[in-house]
Amino acid sequence: MSSGVQIVFVLVFGCVVGSFLNVVRYRLPRKAGMVSGRSMCPECGRRIAWYDNVPILSYLALRGRCRRCGWGIPWIYPVIEASTGASFALIWYSFPPGQAVAYMVLAALLTVCAGIDADLRIIPDKLTLPGIVLGLVFSVTLLKTGPVDKALVRSLLGIVAGGGTLFGVAVLYKLVRRIEGMGGGDVKLMAMVGAFLGYKLALLTIFVGSVAGGIIGLFLIHRSSEGMKTSVPFGVFLSPAGIVCLLWGDALIGAYLNLIK
Ligand SMILES: [Zn+2]
Repeated sequence: MSSGVQIVFVLVFGCVVGSFLNVVRYRLPRKAGMVSGRSMCPECGRRIAWYDNVPILSYLALRGRCRRCGWGIPWIYPVIEASTGASFALIWYSFPPGQAVAYMVLAALLTVCAGIDADLRIIPDKLTLPGIVLGLVFSVTLLKTGPVDKALVRSLLGIVAGGGTLFGVAVLYKLVRRIEGMGGGDVKLMAMVGAFLGYKLALLTIFVGSVAGGIIGLFLIHRSSEGMKTSVPFGVFLSPAGIVCLLWGDALIGAYLNLIK
């Protein structure tokens, strides 16, 4: 298969995985079964036919509405399908197959976490804790970042740096503002990113996520009547930042080091 055909194939595969991630995003925090029957419209209960369940295309064909009752399908559905497709294709393009598979797992976990955080302002341990373990296991298997001992140390340092930094910020924030500003979910999310990517890219992820979250957060605070108490789901920014850093983090760090030389 030529590389162009492979990438198109992975893109389509990613959109289909994204469609499954939408099911996980919706059902996991609501404790609904993952395989309990077919998907249906939450408004009118109509079963969704296969031709209305094709990633992205069905959303466009239906103009974002249920075929029977006209219920507006939230835009997060096509966004998750498209972003999973795009991130899978970019990962496949950028890494050898084994590493690509491991990074696709991380991208999928991050995408679901961002979706749930956007919906409900939580990041479930059911995703991040197994994610941390997977990051450790992959670092010595699929990712093979070096000899086993070094790869394990890299992954463990990543967990400590990613989770520890956010834990420190959360403690400081609580001391200064006297309210819970950041949940433990963000801490575990970043420990998971560190387990896969190591401490450098984990720290870069926090930096990129904070800058993006800061800019967009200020905008939201400005528009909201709650002012500085407006809650901004940090995981929504950290997760895409993690995907950006897994793809281009090393290049970004290299360019920065060149700049200050
Ligand atoms: Zn409906």
